[in-house]
Amino acid sequence: MLRNIALQASKAARFVPRSTGVLHSARAFSASTAVLNEHASLPSLHTFTEEEQMLRDAVRKFATDVVGPKVREMDENEMMDPSVISGLFEQGLMGIETSADHNGAESSFTSAIIAIEELARIDPSVSVLCDVHNTLVNTVIRKYGTKEQQDKWLPQLAESKLGSFCLSESASGSDAFALQTRARKEGDSWILNGSKMWITNSWEAEVFLIFANVDPSKGYKGITCFVATKDMGIQIAKKEQKLGIRASSTCTLNFDDLKIPAENVIGGEGKGYKVCFFTSRLRIVLTYHVSHRWPLKSSTKVASVLPLKCSALPRARSTKLSPTRTNANNSANRSALSRVWRSKSRRLRSISKPHDY
Ligand SMILES: Cc1cc2nc3c(=O)[nH]c(=O)nc-3n(C[C@H](O)[C@H](O)[C@H](O)COP(=O)(O)OP(=O)(O)OC[C@H]3O[C@@H](n4cnc5c(N)ncnc54)[C@H](O)[C@@H]3O)c2cc1C
Repeated sequence: MLRNIALQASKAARFVPRSTGVLHSARAFSASTAVLNEHASLPSLHTFTEEEQMLRDAVRKFATDVVGPKVREMDENEMMDPSVISGLFEQGLMGIETSADHNGAESSFTSAIIAIEELARIDPSVSVLCDVHNTLVNTVIRKYGTKEQQDKWLPQLAESKLGSFCLSESASGSDAFALQTRARKEGDSWILNGSKMWITNSWEAEVFLIFANVDPSKGYKGITCFVATKDMGIQIAKKEQKLGIRASSTCTLNFDDLKIPAENVIGGEGKGYKVCFFTSRLRIVLTYHVSHRWPLKSSTKVASVLPLKCSALPRARSTKLSPTRTNANNSANRSALSRVWRSKSRRLRSISKPHDY
């Protein structure tokens, strides 16, 4: 992408109208050369590695053959088919960046974007489910969890338990740091009270990352991230009726003296603002911008339902994505991915031929 943009800039420079003169033309050309040089070391985001192509083909096949036939029914019923969720787990698509030690595919953020894009071609609801689980929930535990927390939660999240990310409230959407959910310490537990709105995956999820303020006098520096399970007493209330991505559940959650063990704080007390913003919000913005191409073939009701902050994109692209792709560990990651998806794509190949797009 960066290379393409630079190439276009270079072509444009060559077609400067004569009236602008040689000097102007030369300046424009040297500027575009500088852009090219600056990004020469970055691999194009439009050129995938063999493993990435293998992943794309495998996910495309899964989306077309397994998700495709269920799209209309799931949309009409406003309900995700449980077999789609279990299929995503079986295909290794719910722990894309999770390490092999934690039963994940140990792949890159680029691979997560590819998978999310391929799912979105067929059903944006399934794509959103996979996106929130991978790029929000898994990422928070991978980046901010202690070793014990990672050992406990990541394998479950990679194998069978759907995750949900609970930040927004009725009066704190864009202004997330104004959240009103409170947490107070009682012995070895935290007691949470409050509610969340518009929480993706919450109808089906078993693991919840919840943001609450432990000390409002400190403002946003009181915000803390907790990991909880449904059976601790999370109340799943109203399910929103939406214009688009209708099979993706979006619910209100209530916490009425919800008791969470003290060791379930992720990233440290008062560090929730870092957890939610620097990891998750930038990532979800990036995956949505890169991977969701509206309108999509199979959906007639797609609406623009996720407000996005476009200004975060260029920074996110250069600081998050490129280093991942040029990371020295990438060859090891890719060979792990290759192993996982070679075997998965062998299984998938037996289902049927993918469509051409
Ligand atoms: C389908 C769906 C799924 C969602 N899933 C989740 C989820 O899983 N977890 C979760 O925590 N949240 C979720 N959300 C909530 C989502 O993150 C919020 O909707 C979003 O943060 C925006 O908040 P809001 O809707 O209250 O809009 P508002 O904050 O009311 O903003 C409305 C408009 O005003 C603009 N605006 C706001 N503040 C300013 C400002 N200071 N200056 C200029 N413009 C401003 C906004 O950009 C927007 O265009 C979901 C929402 C939807 C619709």
